[in-house]
Amino acid sequence: MNDDRQYDVVIIGGGPAGLAAGVYAARGRRKTVLLEKGVIGGQIALTELVENYPGIKSINGFDLAQEMMQQAESYGMETAYVEVSGIEQTGDLWTVRTSDGDYTAKAVIMTAGADYNKLGIPGEEELIGKGVSYCATCDAAFFKEMETIVVGGGDAALEEAIFTTRYANKVTLVHRRDELRGSAILQERAFANDKIDFKWDTVVTDVLGDEHVTGVKLKDVKTGEESEMATSAVFIFIGQHPNTDFMGDLVPMDKGQHIVVDEWMRTPQPGFFAAGDVRQNSARQVASSVGDGVTAAIAAEHYIGEKFPDAELHSAEDDAHLGGPRAQAMREKADEALPRA
Ligand code: NAP
Repeated sequence: MNDDRQYDVVIIGGGPAGLAAGVYAARGRRKTVLLEKGVIGGQIALTELVENYPGIKSINGFDLAQEMMQQAESYGMETAYVEVSGIEQTGDLWTVRTSDGDYTAKAVIMTAGADYNKLGIPGEEELIGKGVSYCATCDAAFFKEMETIVVGGGDAALEEAIFTTRYANKVTLVHRRDELRGSAILQERAFANDKIDFKWDTVVTDVLGDEHVTGVKLKDVKTGEESEMATSAVFIFIGQHPNTDFMGDLVPMDKGQHIVVDEWMRTPQPGFFAAGDVRQNSARQVASSVGDGVTAAIAAEHYIGEKFPDAELHSAEDDAHLGGPRAQAMREKADEALPRA
């Protein structure tokens, strides 16, 4: 094993939870690497404006993630653009297998996040952040006094449709059946809300618009009849899936494949932590994910301190805030991999 690949803390996933964990682990002078397979920021990298992160009134999601990454790297966190394919326990250490070889760690913080299920229809991908959204709590405020639609019939669709009525004039909930899946209490609230209309037995087949969403094409699944509806936004809540496919049965997960953790983000496997949307019962917000990541990093620090009392602290001499060459090289690599929008 190459010494370069031996870390105190390996963080899997570069969303807010992973980046926050990175700030704390690296500031704790633990040799830390964050592994990211795609774009730093995860879901927020695709979010035009984040307006509910306390202390920052409004910021582009990609920029917020870059700030978090640069902050963590300034304390010595490294970032590697690799895809994780498996994790194994090797004695007291963890081996993380990736598309670019193995990394070992005293502690692993799993923050690979979750992806919203997508409809997979024309216009959806192109208009993300321009009226197509998977988070009404984050984006409903942009559609004040406009008409919006919500797709789905589960708890998330109902809760977010109700939330959206705080801003929108009218919300049309489009559901593919004539019966909702969501809980009775949320159904009652949605039915009692006179800003919410229901379109039953209907699917969205196209999202329309160039610069911004202007409407949708709909299809009645019983009659086959097609129609168009004008709307400023399409909020899609048809479930989500945590990125835990490569985990096997390493740690307990719930029915939806979210990792079960305690209040310190610990799994039953000593040295293995999970934070953010990948864990069970996440509030799925940037701020809560950051809190989770911080909690996990503190718990990992306690674990390493107890389990490996002789572990040397990582030298900070090459930290980015000191202008070190390694940090500079890492930043150049990140810029190459992630051209700014
Ligand atoms: P969910 O319960 O799986 O509901 C997904 C909804 O999307 C269902 O109504 C489903 O229709 C519909 N759907 C799925 N694929 C579709 C497609 N391709 N086209 C159109 N519609 C599609 O997901 P969720 O609402 O995200 O909830 C996930 C879990 O979190 C649930 O256990 C839920 O109880 C929980 N949750 C709880 C709360 C709360 O308690 N406040 C809030 C949010 C989430 P069908 O009904 O026809 O299958």
